[in-house]
Amino acid sequence: MKIKDIIANKKITVSLEVFPPKQWDKLSASKKTVEQLLTYEPDFISVTYGAAGTTSGYTSELARDIIEHGGVPLSHLTCIQASEKKITQVIEELRAGGITNILALRGDIPKDITSGTGGDFHYASELIAYIKAHGDFCIGAACYPEKHPESKSVQSDIYYLKLKQDAGADFLTTQMFFDNTLLYRFKEKCAQTGVTIPIIAGIMPITAVSQIGRSVSLSGCTVPKEFADLTATYSSNAEDMRKAGIDFAVRQIRDLIENGQNNIHIYTMNKPETTAAVLAGIKDLIQ
Ligand code: FAD
Repeated sequence: MKIKDIIANKKITVSLEVFPPKQWDKLSASKKTVEQLLTYEPDFISVTYGAAGTTSGYTSELARDIIEHGGVPLSHLTCIQASEKKITQVIEELRAGGITNILALRGDIPKDITSGTGGDFHYASELIAYIKAHGDFCIGAACYPEKHPESKSVQSDIYYLKLKQDAGADFLTTQMFFDNTLLYRFKEKCAQTGVTIPIIAGIMPITAVSQIGRSVSLSGCTVPKEFADLTATYSSNAEDMRKAGIDFAVRQIRDLIENGQNNIHIYTMNKPETTAAVLAGIKDLIQ
């Protein structure tokens, strides 16, 4: 099943993201997480690709597992430090496994690479065009409501986003954000620039203060005052922080859906219980 068709045929979609393990012996635990998440009946589950392809085999293995359990996978693929031969090999592996949805990304440039990307592709748009020419895949790409950290401005980022659409991207998934007005403004600018493919809103429930340092700082997204106050209030009690983080994510998603943002993607951080709590909070809107 192609994600573009799911989006076209359903009023509201809710999808989930998982990351694969770094080591083989953790794969069965990751599979259990995926199987638990599938019981929540998401429209699809995306599986990330470790930096510079480090989890390549586990990403496709988890994606195949999702199919075996009746779900729809979206397999991430980055082209940083990758040769055309390696990318062709991964595409062939995905095709052979019955995977029809790929999120095509450049990947972060490692600090030791001072020019180029250490591979045959320079930008995600080149990877998208390559995938398009090598099979009948539904292709997604990344977008950044607060601009990509390397970009000069949101507007120049959107200019390159249009290149991803023109190269064959069928939909976009956003980086995490906490202030919905940023997404609404971003979508307006996208529409003005001719970016018309569906935009899926990526939501990260923050359930521990340590996540702010790791995930949030790395993404470069701003933390609104309401959220900063909340973490200051609950930082000393892990359970209260977890509940407050879930509550924030639920309110954020409810506001998005009430304002016509019908495609929601939850960064689960491989935490099924947290995901279940968020889904319970929006159940009445997605039925
Ligand atoms: P691009 O679209 O190539 O953009 C990179 C930068 O180059 C941007 O600043 C853009 O404005 C600029 N640019 C684009 N085209 C051109 C051009 N032709 N000329 C000049 N400048 C240009 N990383 C992983 O390693 N694994 C994952 O699984 C993963 N999943 C992700 C999922 C989502 C939803 C998101 C939002 C990000 C994900 N990332 C992942 C992170 C991503 O790889 C990084 O943000 C990376 O730095 C940029 O990737 P991109 O595909 O957006 O790159």
